[in-house]
Amino acid sequence: MTYRQARWARGECLEPLVFELSRAGRKGVSLHPEVPARIKIPDNLTRRSLELPELSEPQVVRHYTRLSQMNYGVDLVFYPIGSCTMKYNPKVCDELAGAEEAACIHPHQAEETVQGALELMYRLERYLAEIAGVSRVCLQPSAGAHGELLGMLLVRAYHKSKGESRTEVIVPDSAHGTNFASAAMAGFNVIIVPSNNRGRVDLKALRAAVSEKTAALMLTNPNTLGLFEDEISEIAKTVHTAGGLLYYDGANMNGILGKVRPGDMGFDIVHFNLHKTFSTPHGGGGPGAGPVGVVRKLEKFLPGPVVEYDRRRKRYYLDYNRPKSIGKIRSFYGNFGVLVKAYTYLLMMGKEGLEEVAETAVLNANYIMRKMADVGGFEVKFNGPCKHEVVFSAEPLKRETGVTARDVAKRLLDYGMHAPTYYFPPIVPEALMVEPTETETKEELDRFVAAMDEIAEEARLSPEKLRAAPTATAIGRLDEVKASREPILSWKMYRKLAK
Ligand SMILES: *Cc1c(COP(=O)(O)O)cnc(C)c1O
Repeated sequence: MTYRQARWARGECLEPLVFELSRAGRKGVSLHPEVPARIKIPDNLTRRSLELPELSEPQVVRHYTRLSQMNYGVDLVFYPIGSCTMKYNPKVCDELAGAEEAACIHPHQAEETVQGALELMYRLERYLAEIAGVSRVCLQPSAGAHGELLGMLLVRAYHKSKGESRTEVIVPDSAHGTNFASAAMAGFNVIIVPSNNRGRVDLKALRAAVSEKTAALMLTNPNTLGLFEDEISEIAKTVHTAGGLLYYDGANMNGILGKVRPGDMGFDIVHFNLHKTFSTPHGGGGPGAGPVGVVRKLEKFLPGPVVEYDRRRKRYYLDYNRPKSIGKIRSFYGNFGVLVKAYTYLLMMGKEGLEEVAETAVLNANYIMRKMADVGGFEVKFNGPCKHEVVFSAEPLKRETGVTARDVAKRLLDYGMHAPTYYFPPIVPEALMVEPTETETKEELDRFVAAMDEIAEEARLSPEKLRAAPTATAIGRLDEVKASREPILSWKMYRKLAK
């Protein structure tokens, strides 16, 4: 008996692993012995044994139901994790993505049998291009970081086509970690520019960093402090004058939808996170999509195939004839199910709906910012209204009580809410980054502020309670370094360690 099994037998541990419940010969289904196998698998390729738990049907049902209850998700609790846009995703989008017409087609099918799918991609591309103010969009990348890498490869192809070898990509210190990594992976040297005391790009430092070596500037606007880079015109001019390109990290478009467009701000390349802004549930590494939009002069470098419409023959087709393309960045055409969800969402919302998303997302973030001004222990480092998210520093609380931003974040789990992002962006000490999103009610926002107030009070009265948090969750506080460096991800790994 393993340690966990012994605890479970004593009634102490309520989460037995499904393998621990297994008993030889127990069954959940019984197939008729004469159900014919449809495919004849060659004898040398068939498994002799397969280690699966042997369980009854109710045991399986309880197992998965229990797992779903141990999880925190936006369908269960308030999930204000900044930079990640965990908003409610309408179920109808999932339903249509799972419909037979979308889920049961094959990328190798003949074009005339998938005209609807091609039309959907064609239209989605045009909607996204309109939202970002660019001319064409590639739907292939599977994630935001994947889109960034494509963007950086486009930057390289562009400069190469002009016979220039530009080696540097400039990234502000407030940027998302993937920006630095994507630029480096594409072979560029990363030059970091600091933020000024207003939490925006320091224009003087940017001017000093820009040179004939500058390939591009990667910028997030509103930036990760939730602040709009109000000197964007000057920033764009500085980079363009030096011959560089502007890359827009559009992972979080909730704050700008229908209000401003990256293309109009001077950006040349934009990536979208369909799994943050456009209705695909995310987290845990599920399928996403990070389409990349470009201005006209970069179109020819985009990966193929692209979906085109033949007006004469009235049909959509895939155009593989792209001699200047950097080549494919992914198999086939992208995560099609995610594209279906985004398209459904855009049709549902319409232009006015998207504008309302931006207005409500920004209103909710500012509401929390103002309400939190009355909660002692937390401060906003940069004054003025924010966009879709707001970053607090728990430094005053730490000075007063020794309790850290991490302790506060973990304690929020006990209050039945997901933690905000903490210790990011790294330029704010004891950072708590809150993005309420547009899909929350005022009552939920008030409940969050009340919880923060109560937690600050707990920090003063019984700080040890916070250091031990979370205590009401299925799993207590993890050793985060160990969990990421030595993760135990399977029953086999666990068993090896438990022996
Ligand atoms: C989430 C995010 C990314 C990366 O997106 P992934 O899909 O996780 O790769 C990039 N930039 C910002 C600002 C983000 O919030």
